[in-house]
Amino acid sequence: MNPTVITRFAPSPTGYFHAGSYRTALFAYIYAKQHLGKFILRIEDTDRERSKKEYEDNIMDSLKWLGLIHDEFYRQSDRGDIYKKYIQKFIDSGQAYVSKETPKEPGGRTEVIRFRNANKKVAFDDLIRGKVEFDTTELGDFVIAKTIDEPIFHLVNVVDDFEMKVTHVIRGEDHISNTARQILIYEALGAPIPLFAHIPLLLAADRSKLSKRNGAVPITEYRKKGYMPEAVINYLALLGWHPADDAEILSFADIIREFSLKRVQKSGAIFDEEKLKWFNRQYLQKLSDQQFIENAETFLPEWMGTKSGTLKRILPLLRDKISSFGEIQQLFGAGGELAFVSNMHEYPPGMLLWKKNPDKTAAKIHLTECKNILEKIKPENFTTEAVKNSVLPYAEIKGRGDVLWPLRVALTGQEKSPDPFVSASILGKDGSLERLDAAIKKCD
Ligand code: GLU
Repeated sequence: MNPTVITRFAPSPTGYFHAGSYRTALFAYIYAKQHLGKFILRIEDTDRERSKKEYEDNIMDSLKWLGLIHDEFYRQSDRGDIYKKYIQKFIDSGQAYVSKETPKEPGGRTEVIRFRNANKKVAFDDLIRGKVEFDTTELGDFVIAKTIDEPIFHLVNVVDDFEMKVTHVIRGEDHISNTARQILIYEALGAPIPLFAHIPLLLAADRSKLSKRNGAVPITEYRKKGYMPEAVINYLALLGWHPADDAEILSFADIIREFSLKRVQKSGAIFDEEKLKWFNRQYLQKLSDQQFIENAETFLPEWMGTKSGTLKRILPLLRDKISSFGEIQQLFGAGGELAFVSNMHEYPPGMLLWKKNPDKTAAKIHLTECKNILEKIKPENFTTEAVKNSVLPYAEIKGRGDVLWPLRVALTGQEKSPDPFVSASILGKDGSLERLDAAIKKCD
């Protein structure tokens, strides 16, 4: 029987993590789940100066949001005794030794613990990159701990993967050269060497490494912008991997079923927020109105609430316009296309005049006639369709621009807004008539 697959995500909480790290976590998670195995989360915080609780909290929060729920959790700073035991064993057996050092700076360290390197060639079959070989001679006797109580990365990483019975080390390609040292440590432990899969880096649009300087943001920023975790997962999964049939919209369950490390590409994948937006829009459109409102709730203007008539009237428009829920705030905010709904801004009378026929008297006549027409619609029937069917015949006769331009400006006071039929239906009958009255007065 094959041993249970055990994978892990082993972040060092020394900063906020961007999409690249979560894609690595996702691949490790998927691989465990599709083999009915275990996914471990291990916080690698042996670098005490650079590790911070706020980063750890952000990592935990992000994984939870994405739905990458671990089966076991460890924190290296809780495991000092275990590492100490291994270091002592290495020293006792001569596989490591306390080395006298010339301090690099005054008052610097005079002793470290070094691994006795056999100076040989090591090779492994990377599940993505194929055969990888290293000559470890140039590594010399490398440091595995500053003191017996202060182990460093290579040692703790290997001890933990061994103790936690990790079978597949799925991690970023930036660790490929560390694998040589780590294999030497596995051998010294007499431990089985796990399989390695080094995932290619994520790249920015210009193919440079995705980093803070070129667009990489903590993944929680996408939650703030109102992206759906399902869409983010779907997009991350397709960065460097694709299913056999090249389908794009895949549920988490589809991904877990279809995923294969064999189809992870060797070259870097490009992270493109526009593409992520496209995925998010697909997911957002699949929501029922009720689900849409639940997701939109924290982004809707407070005055609107989730049960108002205005929201009901505006919903189709919102569904049509946005790619992420955060865009709702832009639409209603200052300068946004829907700012007029809650706030009628003062606008100059000249704005009411159609550019091809800038005639105040004509504008006044058309606005007055529109008002008469709208007055005849029952408030409960004041829909986009009803407004359109009532006003359009008049506009067809008098000239579309001549009628619809002043009408739209009267309703919204904005250069850019939805068409007058939609705008009127959003405002409702009373709101529309009030604004028409004010506009008619401006034409005197
Ligand atoms: N703690 C390492 C890092 O955050 C990961 C090590 C590994 O996955 O083996 O880069």
